[in-house]
Amino acid sequence: MNEAKKNAGGAGFARIEIMMGMKKLTPLLKKLSTAGITGVTVFQALGCGIQHGSYEYAPEESTEIQLLPKTCLFIICEREAVSDLVELLKLELYTGHIGDGVGYRVIVNEKKYGRIEKRDSILPFFISIGGCPMLYDYHLHSEFSDDSHVPMEAQIERGIALGLDEMCFTDHVDYGIKKDWTDAGEIGWRGGDGVGTPKSSLEPLTNVHYPEYFAKLYRMKRTYGDKIAIKNGLEFGIQVHTIPQYEKLLKDYGDQLDFVLCSIHQVEDKEFWTGDFMKGRTQDEYNQRYYQEMLDVVKAFKGYDVLAHVDLIARYDPAGPIAFEKIQGILTEIFKIVIADGKGIELNTSSWHYGLKNTTPARDILRLYRSLGGRVLTMGSDAHKPEFLADHMQDAQNILRELGFTEVCTFEKHRPIAHKL
Ligand SMILES: [Zn+2]
Ligand SMILES: [Zn+2]
Repeated sequence: MNEAKKNAGGAGFARIEIMMGMKKLTPLLKKLSTAGITGVTVFQALGCGIQHGSYEYAPEESTEIQLLPKTCLFIICEREAVSDLVELLKLELYTGHIGDGVGYRVIVNEKKYGRIEKRDSILPFFISIGGCPMLYDYHLHSEFSDDSHVPMEAQIERGIALGLDEMCFTDHVDYGIKKDWTDAGEIGWRGGDGVGTPKSSLEPLTNVHYPEYFAKLYRMKRTYGDKIAIKNGLEFGIQVHTIPQYEKLLKDYGDQLDFVLCSIHQVEDKEFWTGDFMKGRTQDEYNQRYYQEMLDVVKAFKGYDVLAHVDLIARYDPAGPIAFEKIQGILTEIFKIVIADGKGIELNTSSWHYGLKNTTPARDILRLYRSLGGRVLTMGSDAHKPEFLADHMQDAQNILRELGFTEVCTFEKHRPIAHKL
């Protein structure tokens, strides 16, 4: 656990959730401000309670659900202030009518650091307070990726040991290279020496087995959900000609996903790590071709949340990373689309264990993204093994701060949730 989290141990914050009508919002905000409360978030919602949306209590005559407009307020305050605040709320919000839709609950932090709610709460977000940046990993792999043998349990237990707040599995799907388990025909295997290697250590050329993947993710949430938040993600290794397959996948499983990484892992069905893609091209040519594919993908495909390891090609470039000036123009075009679509990019901390000199993507690229107005950003280790989980995450946070970023995001059902850095 980091020092900031330890130090925040005694802070003692609470959150008060209030459900109320719109009318009383302005007077209540005035009172709260006078009482010195500044941490207020307001949502507009529709809802009903035991009265099924009727204004007076007569449940036997009213079985149909009717949704009424509601206003929800979240107030963050110090624990000592709770009882005074509750008194203030009762005074301000009491109507005397049953079924007036007014209610509140108080949630006091259960952990020693800034966490203020149980993870199994129905509320779709967590709030880090007391200057404790969220510690999480939004790019990691398990036994459901062709190139990892690590069970989800091992990754999760490591995440808990590291004190992570949240982790999102993003196992591989690479149409064009790999088949779905349900596709007709033989499954290909790779790895080993081709003679004496047992099949268990070979890699199947397959995508995630979707039904088993989601079933296991839900089992993991049941087992570990009180210790760490676990999210459902996938990493799409996408190309323009494989977009229809991803659209189909999203149609079938999109509602089970919180988060989708968009990666360019191969172009023209040729992979980078094997060197196939670079063969017969100059450095300028294969870089140009790589970013052109990325541009064409982000123009045509909107089913992702975050563009992963934007300059992945640099990791495998035998000539070393290309000069930023040569790719700045096309990256600007790409980022303008990403930002306009409300999508983001990631800082991928695998650069440390690959021994790269720069970050992934390079600092110039992160700076460019920010200068164009990019704010949605996630951090991920790309760990295929527990030893690399959340690798150098605090270094990554420091670098982002140096570059002027003030927030990082997590995702819930493709909705970005910003956390202060
Ligand atoms: Zn990747
Ligand atoms: Zn990955």
